[in-house]
Amino acid sequence: MAGIYIHIPFCARRCIYCGFFSTLREDEATRYVDAVCLELERRRGYLRNSPVTTIYFGGGTPSRLTIQQMNQLIECINTNYDLANLEELTVECNPDDITMEYVTALRELGVNRISMGVQTFNEDLLHFIGRRHSAMQAVNAVGICNDIGINNVSIDLIYGIPGQTSEMQSYDLKMAADMDVQHISSYCLSYEKGTLLDAMRMDNRIIPVDDDVCAAMYDRMCLYLFKTGFEHYEISNFCRPGYMSRHNSCYWNGTPYLGVGAGAHSYNGKTRQWNPNDIDAYLLGMESNKPIFDLELLSETDIYNEMVMLSLRTSKGLDLLSLTTLDRIFVLRSAEKLISSGYMVLKNNKLCIPEHRMFISDSIISSLFKI
Ligand code: SF4
Repeated sequence: MAGIYIHIPFCARRCIYCGFFSTLREDEATRYVDAVCLELERRRGYLRNSPVTTIYFGGGTPSRLTIQQMNQLIECINTNYDLANLEELTVECNPDDITMEYVTALRELGVNRISMGVQTFNEDLLHFIGRRHSAMQAVNAVGICNDIGINNVSIDLIYGIPGQTSEMQSYDLKMAADMDVQHISSYCLSYEKGTLLDAMRMDNRIIPVDDDVCAAMYDRMCLYLFKTGFEHYEISNFCRPGYMSRHNSCYWNGTPYLGVGAGAHSYNGKTRQWNPNDIDAYLLGMESNKPIFDLELLSETDIYNEMVMLSLRTSKGLDLLSLTTLDRIFVLRSAEKLISSGYMVLKNNKLCIPEHRMFISDSIISSLFKI
């Protein structure tokens, strides 16, 4: 089992909060798709012939590619990898790129899941964070996916936006739960270095929402989505039963994946490898057959820390039986006080963070790391 991630870095406009690697240079898309195909061909040994069960086009905005370009990439994957067991093929889309024709063509290419950055249904907040779509466009885009028979649609929401009240958040949650979507990813707004949003914070042009208010918003979201039938399976991810993201689950359960494109990361159980966050360096590297990438050989400590960090983000938690005896002893000793004070739960050889402590999971998890 393995996954493939394809990074499509093009965006029509920058959102003020975005820390992902992306570029406005859409005129490079043809050259970029050719370069990604070269990378897919050259790195076909990376997954050691493991059957690919998930493919994920992320960005940036993959829906800025034409259908011909999507077709070229999917054909290339099909030619070079074993897709006989493919379960999930996701494309991230911006609501205002969604048309009947585009989604119909994606479906014909085998796409069976669409992930859409909706963020909020409040027009003023959408405008503030620099999104290029309206709330109505997002509602219509989900409707188009449903009409065409994509029955696995995920939307992203953001909470903790300056000016967002609890009523506004409740409205977003109600809108999301009332739509025919199977998956919701919801993140607290973060202030990434180098973004316009962070510059506005530093200049005191905006005041970030207080941590306690964000924690209350998180609790409200968990409660509302539980009441409306969503399962909370990862810190920021909720799904209708059976609709968890198979691709993202690869990241959390240690399944190998190949990441291609500028800025993409790969993991094979022993190393992590990543391409430059620089479209020119990526293109020149691929075109001259001298790819530029960084590689990190993972030590036993790194592998332990990663397993702890990733598994404890999920509701399944850390399976103690998957650890060595020494690691099991180490983690149980480290977690002793957390368990007795209710910050962690130990049940059936699984160590978990209860839902009401998930908002502060980073500090809980880091106290179990080996240094
Ligand atoms: S949030 Fe998405 S659409 Fe906005 S700039 Fe970032 S990658 Fe592009």
